[in-house]
Amino acid sequence: MTTQDSVLAERSRKFGVAEGDEGIVRCDACPVLCRIRPGRAGACSRYANENGLLIRTDPVVLLAEAVEGGQPLVAFAENAQDWNGSILPAERVFVTGIGSGTTYPDYKPAPFIVSSQHEGVDTVTVVTEGIFSYCGLKVKIDTDRHLGPETAAIRVNGEQVGHVTTAEYGSQMLSIGGVRHLTGGSKKEGNTTCETMLKLGNGEAVELTIDGGHGVVVQAGQAPIVDGKPETRMRVGCGSATIGIFAKQWQGHVDEVIVVDDHITGVLTEHQAGRVLDMKPTGIRVRGRKSTPGRYFQVAQPGLGWGGTDITDPLSIIQKIDPGTAWPGMRLLMTSTTGEDSLYCILDENLMPVEAEMPAAVRQVVERIGENCEPSLCSVLFVAGAGGSLRAGVTENPILLTRSVQGGTTRVTMGGAPVYVWPGGGITVMVDVLRMPRNAFGYVPTPAIVAPIEFTLPRELYLACGGHAEEIVPVEEVLRAHGGQARIEGGAAENPWPLRRG
Ligand code: SF4
Repeated sequence: MTTQDSVLAERSRKFGVAEGDEGIVRCDACPVLCRIRPGRAGACSRYANENGLLIRTDPVVLLAEAVEGGQPLVAFAENAQDWNGSILPAERVFVTGIGSGTTYPDYKPAPFIVSSQHEGVDTVTVVTEGIFSYCGLKVKIDTDRHLGPETAAIRVNGEQVGHVTTAEYGSQMLSIGGVRHLTGGSKKEGNTTCETMLKLGNGEAVELTIDGGHGVVVQAGQAPIVDGKPETRMRVGCGSATIGIFAKQWQGHVDEVIVVDDHITGVLTEHQAGRVLDMKPTGIRVRGRKSTPGRYFQVAQPGLGWGGTDITDPLSIIQKIDPGTAWPGMRLLMTSTTGEDSLYCILDENLMPVEAEMPAAVRQVVERIGENCEPSLCSVLFVAGAGGSLRAGVTENPILLTRSVQGGTTRVTMGGAPVYVWPGGGITVMVDVLRMPRNAFGYVPTPAIVAPIEFTLPRELYLACGGHAEEIVPVEEVLRAHGGQARIEGGAAENPWPLRRG
């Protein structure tokens, strides 16, 4: 038996059990417990039976720093069988959970428990693929366009996969997935939710429809497409903020500016910014509920028009123009918060706004609003609870791991990407999917999402936590056994750790 054969046999024993004498192997990597015949794959295609051995079908992903020149190492596995791991310097390699497999039920030690040195400290990294039922995506869509009412259902192929949640500054927020949609509804709802999360997590585009709202194509790191139209700009700020930023640049070029916004529509001369500049009142009153001087809520309904309202004719939000204050020839600018929509008018003898050619100086400020908008993007954050049984693959006394994570002495990464650990109980983590290697997510048909997770802590602490001491393997040995088949990635440049330290 070659070294590689014995490595495969050992992995097979970790993930499953041979059954009968027909070469069938039972996959133990999730509760589905597929019985897989030779040459076939299990229900999730992540495991297969190769000549009577259970293999993980995707390669394990290693993050590797460049040896020279600052560039990450690239795949090198042309003669994988002969490779002895010497190309990768062990101190510059991090074993991720992607492709590592799952040792279910979790009282079995995790697939890789790797010892290495980090900044002179003996550390242990426990590496596994977690199976998460409690998980979801928070999606941030940089647009002020109205996608749908708060709490409205989000659907894919008619199945509810999430809901619209509280909007943030310049962004609409969606909550996708979660345990209720995965397991609390019909089988179809669960499978559609799982597939939607899997695609979004792996950076694919998904078309969502929102009850009482619009259709939006979402893809991490890309601009959203709302009802077939790609969004380009994230608003510079609300209407009031826009007035505050640009008031001085308008002074002397226009007499009044109205910045149309679904949240706060700003009126320059009435706003504190205009007052501080001693701008003359113009007597224009816009519709909606006055919050404070020059700041109006609810000037229109939310929509896909100007500034996230349903307005296509901006003059429709002018409720009245006071003839005792306004004057013929008065110069009025109306603009949206992205500068994409704008209208320049001059009041005629009857104090009616009449569209006129926008002077260059005014145009310049409108263009500057656009220049100050950031590109509209979709961000996808994966949130999962790792405070359950997978902890037993790390330690025999899981509460000690939880406390250590909460106390910051155990570092959690997902595919080598940094996570935010939520305060309070459990191990609830959140990660930006774009900081993870590509195709980091998988699924099992229970349904649940499979995601990589790594716990790194000082060796001494690992032993004190009741860690599986007998399973610790030096990183050099892991590289010798698995480096030849591994997928090598450089890791996202913005990740401060584990490759870019100090
Ligand atoms: S669904 Fe996948 S992980 Fe689960 S038992 Fe089957 S092959 Fe193994």
